[in-house]
Amino acid sequence: MKIGFIGTGTMGQPMLANLVKKGFEVVAFDIVTAALEAAVKLGANPSASVAEAAANSELIITMLPSSANVEAVYLGSGGVLESAAAGRLCVDMSTIDPGTSQRVAAQLKQRGLRFLDAPVSGGVGGATAGTLAVMVGGDADDLEEARPALAAMSSNIVHVGDIGAGEVAKLCNNLISGSALVAVAEAFRIGEAFGVDPQVLTNVIAKSSGATWVMEHAHPVPGIVDNAASSRQYAPGFMTDLMAKDLGLAVSAAREKRVPVIVGPAAQQLYRLASSHGLGREDFSSVYKFLKPSSDDAPV
Ligand code: NAD
Repeated sequence: MKIGFIGTGTMGQPMLANLVKKGFEVVAFDIVTAALEAAVKLGANPSASVAEAAANSELIITMLPSSANVEAVYLGSGGVLESAAAGRLCVDMSTIDPGTSQRVAAQLKQRGLRFLDAPVSGGVGGATAGTLAVMVGGDADDLEEARPALAAMSSNIVHVGDIGAGEVAKLCNNLISGSALVAVAEAFRIGEAFGVDPQVLTNVIAKSSGATWVMEHAHPVPGIVDNAASSRQYAPGFMTDLMAKDLGLAVSAAREKRVPVIVGPAAQQLYRLASSHGLGREDFSSVYKFLKPSSDDAPV
């Protein structure tokens, strides 16, 4: 099966590499030349545009930063809507607003195109290992058609519900992981300020009720977890700007349904502040750098 893969960035590259390894023919496009060149090195054929990738493939996969990018790639001039053959299935694996997924799906449907929202969890490590969790919204038959391609990138595919439901599950997950990382960073700053060895503190928490995925895999203190971004000068990983976006999407979803949310908005503002202080393109765990204590002579 020939797959058009649009958005070959941090996640797109290892994901398409697994598609190539499993024998899929991949036609790639990215607006950034370096990202497209990296995809070609991984075995994809390059396309000159979204239209070319969409027109020359049987299944279209997108892995883009935000709702606006997804809307532009599908509905914009020279986009998938104008270029793909009628009946084609499109799978958007980006993390975006569920309302945008529904809007894009509805417009595609008018031209006989089908759509699944299928955001992922597991980060670059999961994308590289082919063990991403995929949360799918849309028609069950469409999921079966996409399943062989999704299975090349994932070890856990869950059909959550109708279009948009995959995104809802993803936003709920990132509300938890984004908020938890802030709590972990605060805890380690407190420990450090009292002279507690961060490795010892990690050992204690790993066996206590505060144990969490983000401490195990995205520990914010450098040198504790070898594969964590903090041990690689906070190279992403998952960028601060993307986490700020995801928490924003979760807060908007909560507002739409009148669900009170307190921790998520505070965490989101912290990521935004970290971004405005130059940490936006570093891993989200770099928010730890931003949580430095005030000077000793500041009043308590
Ligand atoms: P990224 O910015 O590294 O990659 C996105 C790519 O899309 C970039 O190369 C960009 O040039 C390209 N792009 C943007 N607009 C385009 C257009 N109009 N046409 C073609 N290409 C275009 O981001 P990423 O880290 O790969 O994340 C992608 C999505 O996956 C985001 O929604 C993110 O929230 C989600 N996600 C990321 C991770 C992670 O660990 N990085 C984990 C889970 C989910």
